[in-house]
This record gives sequence, structure tokens and C-alpha cells, in this order.
Amino acid sequence: MKGGFFDFKRVRRRFRSPLATGAGTVDAVDRVLLRCQSETGVGYGEIAPWPGFPSETIDQAIEVMRSAQGNFSHLCSTVQASRSALPCLAAALSSCEHWSAIAAYDGALPCAGLVALSGDDAAAKIAAGFQTLKIKISAETKETSIREIFSLFAGQVRLDANGSLDLTTARTWAAFARSEKRVEFLEQPLPVGHPGYASLGQDKIALDESFLTPAGSDWPGLVVIKPLLAGDWTELRAWRQHRRCPVVYSSCFETAIGRQAALWLASLDAEVGTVGFDTLGRFEHDARDRHPAGPIARGVADFDWDAFWREIS
Ligand SMILES: [Mg+2]
Repeated sequence: MKGGFFDFKRVRRRFRSPLATGAGTVDAVDRVLLRCQSETGVGYGEIAPWPGFPSETIDQAIEVMRSAQGNFSHLCSTVQASRSALPCLAAALSSCEHWSAIAAYDGALPCAGLVALSGDDAAAKIAAGFQTLKIKISAETKETSIREIFSLFAGQVRLDANGSLDLTTARTWAAFARSEKRVEFLEQPLPVGHPGYASLGQDKIALDESFLTPAGSDWPGLVVIKPLLAGDWTELRAWRQHRRCPVVYSSCFETAIGRQAALWLASLDAEVGTVGFDTLGRFEHDARDRHPAGPIARGVADFDWDAFWREIS
């Protein structure tokens, strides 16, 4: 990459209601949108760290961008030199690099519906046509409440504990997942780095918070890939070429720029399966979601990204 320049904008997005994450309840998240212009044209990327994942922070990313003083090739070499410490920036630069293909992406991927056990979430998602539901569980969750959801539809269920269980409870839920064909997997039952993973076994256990980039992972089972946290996408795709175990592509509540790029990246995987991108409509209206919501996650081609960029104050 020679020359070129870039600009960035920081945006704060407030959730309509606080969101439970692996690092506690979150009211708002900050994102940085990146626009670059180089010999290959204009590209966009998004820096979208997520609570509980050990990437660089927004402030650290901004510090790196400020030091590059708008010089795109300078930014690329800085990030390349320390990409293991800057996975969000590395992913954002991958998005910039492939932007012409990303902007043209108009494919469609089946998407899991994100539901809370309280209220009518599950019924509403089922009525909307979701075939897979992703349910957050905790140590207090009862198996009967999951069986009630089974009775509402004929699809699959994914359970996500966000690292909240102890080993005894995790074993109980792992046994439940393994005995129920309709449970696709149990996601992050134990905290990050918990030694209990060794005895829990890998069958139907998916790592989310414990997986950031391929470089830091030795888990042979299912992993959840959040494209915007996963570091350099060329390295990610090379890793997928020789690791044929299924993975799950998932959102980290990015704006339209990050979503378009992440869906494009997921679509390149021959075994993409059902993605976890039911994250639209969760923020106070800020016009930064532009994709259609629902059980099929679609790319938006022919979208005016330059106008989207200009509208961000
Ligand atoms: Mg998760």
C-alpha cells in the first residue's frame, strides 16, 4: 500500500434497553468508522470492540490513527507491525482493502434470532420466521424454560451463558445440550481461561469470549467468529482453509459499514451456516443501521456509502 489518506469518525450508540454481555450490562457502545482513499479507490471499515473481548480499546485505536496523521500507508504499516495487539484495526483495514467487493455484496444468509427468556421474544421471533433461536442463559435458568421454547416451534436452539456458569452447572447444561438434538450448541459456559474446559469436552461446546483471533486459539471445537474482532481477514481465511470444523459468524453490534463487511466475509466461508446477526433495532434510532432485519441477513448492494459517511456528524 503506497500513499493514500484516511479519515475517521467516532460514534456513540445507545441501546434502547441495557444489554447483558460477558462483561456485565452495557448501556452504550462507541465505534470508530474509517474511510480511506488510496490507489485502489475508497474503502470503509469499522472499529468495534466488544465488552469482554481482549482487543484494543476505542481510545487505543484512535491513538494509533492519530499518530498516522491521515497517512493511510503509515496506518497500514503500524497496524501490520502490531496486528496481534490491534485486532479491531486489522479487521477494519481488511474491510477497507476489500471494500469494492463488500459494497457489491447482496447475498443472503440464514440468521439466528436473539431472544430473552422473559417476555414474548421467542414467540415474536418464531412468528417472524426465525428457524434458529439464540437464548441467553444463566445459573438461574431452568431447563423447563428451554423445553417450553421447543414446544413453540420445530427449529434449533443455541444457548449462550456468556461465561456465567460454574463447573457443576456447566456440566449439567453440557449434558442437556448433548441429550437434546435441538440444542445446536452451548456457548461459552465457563469464564475465559477456566481450567474446566479441559474436562467439559468439546462436543457441542462453542467458545465465544475465549476466542478472539485464530492466532490465540488452540480450541479444536466450535468457535464463534466476530469478524470485526478477528484481526486480519486474509489470515482468518487462510486459517479456515485448513480448519474444517464448523464456526459461527456473529455480529458485535456494528453499524451498517461493519455489518455489510462482516456478512460479506461470512459469505466467503463454504460452511458458513446460520449466522448470529440479529442485532438490528437494538439502539436508539441513530440511522446507523441500514440493513433489513429478519431471519435472513442480507447485504445491501447499490447503497450510497459516501452519503452514509457524510451524514455522520
Ligand atoms: Mg456469545
